[in-house]
Formats: sequence, C-alpha cells, structure tokens
Amino acid sequence: MSKVYRRHSFVSVFSAFLNQACKEDNDLIKKYIQKYFKMTNVKILFNRFFLKLILSFGVMMGASLYYAPLTFAQHTKVLAQPGSYHMLLGDIEIIAFSDGSVPQDLDKLLTNTQPGEVKKLTELNFQTPVVEASVNAYLLKINGKLILVDAGTADLYGPSLGHLPANMIRAGYKPEQIDAVLVTHIHTDHTGGLMAGDKMVFPNADIYVSRKEADYWLSDENYAKAPARLKPYFDQARLKMTPYVKAGKLKTYEYGKELFPGILPVASAGHTPGHSFYQVTSNGEKIMFWGDIMHSAAVQFADPDVTIVYDVDPATAAQARKRAYEDAAKGKYWIAADHLSFPGIGHIRKRETGYGWFPINYTTSGVGQ
Ligand SMILES: [Zn+2]
Repeated sequence: MSKVYRRHSFVSVFSAFLNQACKEDNDLIKKYIQKYFKMTNVKILFNRFFLKLILSFGVMMGASLYYAPLTFAQHTKVLAQPGSYHMLLGDIEIIAFSDGSVPQDLDKLLTNTQPGEVKKLTELNFQTPVVEASVNAYLLKINGKLILVDAGTADLYGPSLGHLPANMIRAGYKPEQIDAVLVTHIHTDHTGGLMAGDKMVFPNADIYVSRKEADYWLSDENYAKAPARLKPYFDQARLKMTPYVKAGKLKTYEYGKELFPGILPVASAGHTPGHSFYQVTSNGEKIMFWGDIMHSAAVQFADPDVTIVYDVDPATAAQARKRAYEDAAKGKYWIAADHLSFPGIGHIRKRETGYGWFPINYTTSGVGQ
C-alpha cells in the first residue's frame, strides 16, 4: 500500500507544477519559460495544450489511485512462495501443501461481530480487514500410504489459487500416487481440486467423506429444496464429486471408527452438516485436522463466537469451534487448519479472554517441533 501512496504524492506534486505553468495569467512562469526554454508565445500556447493533457492524465491517475479501492488484479501478482512444509508426528511424516491464498474482506464475511470489532482485532495483528486467507491441504505418509486431507480449489477461484498439484510435484509426489483423500467437507475450496476440467486429479484415490456430508450435497431431494443462493454450491459440489461417485471411489463413513490405523474422523457439524475433523495419532503424538472450523486467526481466536457467512448453521458452528478450542488447549496437541496462514499448523493456549495461537517452529531437521 505504501508504494501506492508514494505514487499518488508524486503525481499530485507534478500535477500542481503543471497546473501553475498552464495558468493563462501567470506571467512570472511565462517569463521563466520564455527565458530558459527560449519559447515564443505560440510555442508556449502549443506546449500548454500538451501540458494540460498531461495534467488531466496526472489528475485522473492520482484520483483513481487515491479513491478507487485496489482490486486484487491491480496490486497483486502471484508470488512464487515455497509451497510445502514438512513435519514429523511420531512415526509419520506430514507435509503441508499450499494451494495458494486469496483476499477476503473479513468485514463483509464475518458475522455475529460487535461494531468495529473486526477492524480492532485485525489492527491488533498488524493486518487490515481485507486479508489473504491461505488454502492448505495436508499429505500424510503412513505405512507406505499417501493420504491427503482436502484437495484445494483447482481453477475455481483465480490464479492465486489452484497450486496444490504443482506444489506436490515440486516436493516429489505425483497426484496419481495418492491412495486416499479425506475430505473435511464438500465446499469447493476443499474439493474443487479433485477435478481439473473433466480429468480426475487423483485417479487412484478413494475419496472419504462423512455420510451426512455426502447425503446433504449429493442428494437430489436436497438439491431441489435448496434456496437459489445455495444452488451454485450444490452444482459445483456435484461437478467435482460425481466422477468419483460414478467410478465407485466415494467412500462414506459413520463416526466412531478409524478409517486407517491412527486416523479417526470426528464429527464437527455447523459449518456444513457433515463437517469432519480428522484426528491422527502416532507414537503418543496427536494432530487434529480442523478443516473450516475457523477462517480468521486474528478475529476468531480472540472471539470464538464470531461466525462466517459460509456457515450453513452459524450457531452450531460457533459451538463446535468453542469445543474444539477448549479440547486442543487442554490436550496441548497439534492442530492444522485449511485457512490459517500457511502451513496452518500450530498449538493454541487459553487466555483470559479467547485463545492464543502459536504457529509451528520452522525447522529443517524436525527437532523442537
Ligand atoms: Zn474453506
């Protein structure tokens, strides 16, 4: 932003000078131009026309930079950030992959907030209410199997997202090697990446999702009942899931049983009806994959009651979040969340009000994690 303001000040000063030079009655400047630039009155008139043209352009540019809110395309390019982060949990290796990030206007998206709360809490975190949310996915290497938690977005949300497959390949894994994808919920920032156009991105993987979640998004009856504003979500969900359903690769589950040794799905409805966490344990260590139990660290750790417009049932989502926070703080285990700043892995601690967030320590040896 500061760069934009610097550009704006330069344009203003330049425009002010030109403005003076163009004034018909400014004899002092006219004499100055005649003397130092050896211009006749005709030449001055001629140049005045161009100066005015430049002036108008300068003013327009200054005004547009100052008043127009910057769109994503205007001030952002897609930066080549590192897209993977490895951690060890007991005997297993977990690799966080970035699908990218996307600007979110928390003032518009967060609900059940107090007036001014979002601004205050984001400022406290040296952020603005428009902040980029990460989209993360996690690869688990367990007993020779490659299991992915959530699948990114593919091409649904623009060029700053959809980088999961490229980041996997860069880290040495091919999407076709994936044995299973555990879906926390069927929103397309988590399932969009299952398909690239009409091609399965993970052709050899079974897709695991709770029966409740699959029933909600994939049943014809629910689709017919859904209000018009939700219909596009149903359409997109079906577009990305149906090829796997047709190929017999969709595995729905009930809670209470491990899907693989050490991997237990945990009900956490609210954000969507069948939203699930995945609890992974190895050698006495534990991590809980949280999916979309939260969307803003700055706001929702401080105030867990704050909800988001994407919640299908906001009150239930807030309850689930508070239970999840309390359990993670008490149990002191790792959590990983798809929209916390990449890699989105860390611990939380209860504070007098709200919770503190402690992101994972950067390491290349796995010691001290
Ligand atoms: Zn999401």
